[in-house]
Amino acid sequence: MSVVDSALAQIHQLQPYQPGKPVEELERELGIRNADKLASNENPLGCSPLARAAIENALDDIWLYPDANAWYLKQALAQKLGVDENQVTIGNGSNDVLDLIARCFLERDTEAVFSRHAFLVYSLVTRACGASARVAAALPADHAQAYGHDLDAMLAEINERTRLVFIANPNNPTGTWVARAALESFLEAVPERVAVVIDEAYFEYVDEQDYPNALDWLATYPNLIVSRTFSKIYGLAGLRVGYAVSSAELCDLFNRVRQPFNGNSLALAAAKAALDDDDFVLRSRQANSHGLQFMRRELAARSIDYIPSAGNFVSAKFGSGTMQVYQGLLERGVIVRPVANYELGEYLRISVGTEPQLERLFAALDDIL
Ligand SMILES: *Cc1c(COP(=O)(O)O)cnc(C)c1O
Repeated sequence: MSVVDSALAQIHQLQPYQPGKPVEELERELGIRNADKLASNENPLGCSPLARAAIENALDDIWLYPDANAWYLKQALAQKLGVDENQVTIGNGSNDVLDLIARCFLERDTEAVFSRHAFLVYSLVTRACGASARVAAALPADHAQAYGHDLDAMLAEINERTRLVFIANPNNPTGTWVARAALESFLEAVPERVAVVIDEAYFEYVDEQDYPNALDWLATYPNLIVSRTFSKIYGLAGLRVGYAVSSAELCDLFNRVRQPFNGNSLALAAAKAALDDDDFVLRSRQANSHGLQFMRRELAARSIDYIPSAGNFVSAKFGSGTMQVYQGLLERGVIVRPVANYELGEYLRISVGTEPQLERLFAALDDIL
């Protein structure tokens, strides 16, 4: 038996996460220099100048270990969010936080519940712990929240082995979201021993009237954990900072399994500075809202079906020609994201770019179609 065979069976069964194609890779392959990446829901405005300045400032100290407790960042987050700093867990991206949570609750013979078409990391962290995934049926294609989370179906998957439920609000790659009243009834119905993660990676982008802020429920539901990130609207995806907000008791557990230096010093400094730049967040939000409107209009004008999205991306339907369209876009220097691994093989997920990027996208689409 080889050493590879001695690795855990659950690890052998994992499929590696497929990231968006990096710009440099496509440019290398095509010998071009100005590719546009609309494949990973990054902020096309970049990041706040305050974050850049904070990084420059922090450079002198990179020979020192970072603050393992991320005191300044937690302090700033606690103040901004109206929670206590001992309720905040910092992660190397919010994916790290999801992994910490899974490791606190899941092992063999336990289960996690999430929806079909939900963010793939839920499945990855669940299976890596040797636990089983209970995948709930999604809402039907003709529903206003097509392919979105069906909370009743998710509730029906909860049993005595369930330890954890993942809800993405809004979800990636569908962009669907769950309204306040429905989510509150769900929390009310879930047994208190089952932890519920509400992943709000796109929280700052959402404009919808009935979209809830899950932090409002923390005091009522001790089993609630809310995760957010600096990768999306804050434009710091490359630095890897995310966080969870929960009860202080759960936070204490997460910090026991957390790697002591999972937030590097440049990332901690940049994230703290980014929090102060309300103007950058507002501009990003407005640009996204305009971009979304532009995309909806242009897709509709071409009779291309799409899933209505509350995030900074839209999944559009190209049917049986999806991979040809993907390739055609690559050849024209535009990178989007196939989502067949989310069981949405007829769709491409397109991040909301700047206006010039979106014009290039639609010109390329016209050329292909
Ligand atoms: C992008 C994304 C995240 C954030 O990942 P990071 O590790 O913070 O970069 C989390 N959840 C969902 C649903 C996402 O789409």
